[in-house]
Amino acid sequence: MHIRILLLSLAITLGMLWPQMAMAQGKKLKVVTSFSILEDMTRNIGQDLIELHNIVGPNTDMHAFELRPQDIETLASADIFIVNGLGFEPWAGRLIKSANFKGTVVTASRLSRKLQPIEPQDNKAKTMDEYVNQGKNLPNETDSGEHDHDHGNVDPHAWHNLNNAKLYVANISDALAKADPKHADFYATNERRYRKELTDLQSWASREVQKFSESKRWIVTNHDGLQYLARAYRIRYVNVIGSGHGDSPSAQKLAEVIQLIKSKNIRAIFYENVTDNRSLDQIAQETGTKVQGVLYTDALSQNGEKANNFINLYKHNIDAILAAWKPEV
Ligand SMILES: [Zn+2]
Repeated sequence: MHIRILLLSLAITLGMLWPQMAMAQGKKLKVVTSFSILEDMTRNIGQDLIELHNIVGPNTDMHAFELRPQDIETLASADIFIVNGLGFEPWAGRLIKSANFKGTVVTASRLSRKLQPIEPQDNKAKTMDEYVNQGKNLPNETDSGEHDHDHGNVDPHAWHNLNNAKLYVANISDALAKADPKHADFYATNERRYRKELTDLQSWASREVQKFSESKRWIVTNHDGLQYLARAYRIRYVNVIGSGHGDSPSAQKLAEVIQLIKSKNIRAIFYENVTDNRSLDQIAQETGTKVQGVLYTDALSQNGEKANNFINLYKHNIDAILAAWKPEV
């Protein structure tokens, strides 16, 4: 009798536990990313095995982003929160606190594995070497705290150097594997495949850029989103408003840029998908040039547009730059 009661209660207990165990086993890792480029990288690694949510969406300006109540709700039940770091998400600390987030924060740019942050630049370097080397060897500060994304001392747009992008992918893959060791092989395989694609893209870009002499390699955009790309390929990069997005340039700054465009005969002038580009129209008008199209800097495009994933974004940006350098026919 006693034994039967014992068995019965054991059966009841098991019966109650069973669904929970099954759920725990079948439950997907819930991952939140801070912006669209990290979302795409993370999807490449985690694919259908993770439940993925993203905060700052396509064509959206991170600099002007304000947290919404649903972001707090989304993060509250997540296992992993992936951020860029380098001060790119000034709201991340507040979000983590408001959501009472107890999971793991992963800083994609965290580089024990050698990402070299660079300084925002001021268009003042005289030579290519001076330009490429300025501001190197900054401290490797990668926290995701309450910095302003006026970029401070460190330029956060590190993903535009594909060596850094590969590091991001490795950090993301490591974090998923750690949280979900059962699928570590799956994540590692996807990481290898994706990093190979990035390496191929990098070889192509550098081969194509090298077809142009360094004296031709200039680009102009509105804010300073492309320093890492520019320095990786020895391209001189002029930006109009520097690191802030909402600011309009001073008359003096505009005059400087206009003078530079005229003296170097620069034609590769581009809008960005995330900033107010009116100053570029003015510059184009005053220099008798035209804006050559859009470069995607801080966000992917919407689905169905050209830069709907990171590899397409990168290809598009390089293609657009190369096309602008080609001699006019
Ligand atoms: Zn930016």
